[in-house]
Amino acid sequence: MNPSIKVFKFGGASIQDAAAFQNVGNILKKYQNDPLVIVVSAMGKTTNALERIVKAYMSEQEHKKDDPFKLLEEVKQHHYLVTSILFGEDHPVYALLNDTFVEIEWIIEDEPQDEYDYIYDQLVSIGEMAASRLLTAYLNHIKLSASWLDARDVIRTDDTFREGRVDWDMTTKQSQQKIPALLSKTNFVVTQGFIGGTQENFTTTLGREGSDFSAAILAYTLDADSMHIYKDVQGVLTGDPRLFKEVQKMDRLSYREAIEMTYYGAKVIHPKTIKPLENKNIPLHVKSFLQPDEPGTVITKIVDVDYPPVVVVEPNQVLLHISTRDFSFVTERHLGYLFQQFDKNRIKINMMQNMAISFTVCVTERSERLAKLLAELEIDFKLVVERGLELITIRHYDDKIVKSLSEGKVILFEEYIRGTMSMVVKNMSQTR
Ligand code: ASP
Repeated sequence: MNPSIKVFKFGGASIQDAAAFQNVGNILKKYQNDPLVIVVSAMGKTTNALERIVKAYMSEQEHKKDDPFKLLEEVKQHHYLVTSILFGEDHPVYALLNDTFVEIEWIIEDEPQDEYDYIYDQLVSIGEMAASRLLTAYLNHIKLSASWLDARDVIRTDDTFREGRVDWDMTTKQSQQKIPALLSKTNFVVTQGFIGGTQENFTTTLGREGSDFSAAILAYTLDADSMHIYKDVQGVLTGDPRLFKEVQKMDRLSYREAIEMTYYGAKVIHPKTIKPLENKNIPLHVKSFLQPDEPGTVITKIVDVDYPPVVVVEPNQVLLHISTRDFSFVTERHLGYLFQQFDKNRIKINMMQNMAISFTVCVTERSERLAKLLAELEIDFKLVVERGLELITIRHYDDKIVKSLSEGKVILFEEYIRGTMSMVVKNMSQTR
């Protein structure tokens, strides 16, 4: 329908300070005649800071460690500092930012009445609202014509707060109604990643790092020509450069390979991003915002070639050994119940194995949810919990890499399936 629309996504690191905004402006200058939908995350580490505000606000009075107003003040100060560098002391964007932050103040002035996940979404979404306001104003300031779009009027989700499930039909309808009309007035449309809206107009979020997914949703609904993610790395690498010295950038990847890698936890792209793009055959370019002219990695429908070993490390893993109280076998009937409990508490199983009298699963530590699940399971089952572990997954493994990555570690649980090796290990040092 709109073959020339491109969707660009800029993550938090690419807009962390005033210089970073200027860099994004320079990248976008080269596209000033192209219709672009620009999806932005919150600035720098704003989402983490907003999460701390939610925690402080929701914790009971006697356990309150932090003052949510003080924490909010820090977030505001950083935004105002960047604003003053970009625009000077007087600019209409200050009023827009004030209106954005006042929404947090209205909520935290009253005692918490609503559920944690609902409050989380109303507060944490403000990071993307503020960043998108700033970027739109900045692009116009440097004479690139841009409109601001409220993503909550386009991306419709259900009310699963913190993990909104997309209503694709409604989202497609709203996106096709609103975005081309805006693009006929300005070359660029800037909107927020990570957030959506329910039918009742409540804000939802799509899960941490969800801005990539937002961009893919918009690319899908607009039949975009391509999608481009700008990151602080050169493209998709064979491992996390903070953990491994020798990593390689991959020039091309298939959608399938990218789905597998992100499923196992590769942080470079949000796992839900690839499928919508694959369905419409939209190429995904992953590039560096510091070297935007370099080709990065292109993810398309290619026949898989020989990939080098790719390593994904997931910290904060927990092993749960679940057995019946009378030590009878764990049967399919038990498993049915157990899976329901994991699903109900929205805890994803990373690895599992059923043995005679125990069922072992590896999950990621998510404090509140896991505590709830454990309390429920403890009613009927005996639990042994091992914390502080790491899950290492190696795609396209060979003996050499398995040996080198397991050195000096206790392997508690391992699995080899169709070219993928996974192991849960203890006592890993931070640098290799
Ligand atoms: N700002 C959100 C986060 O930090 C979403 C994103 O950046 O993709 O998780």
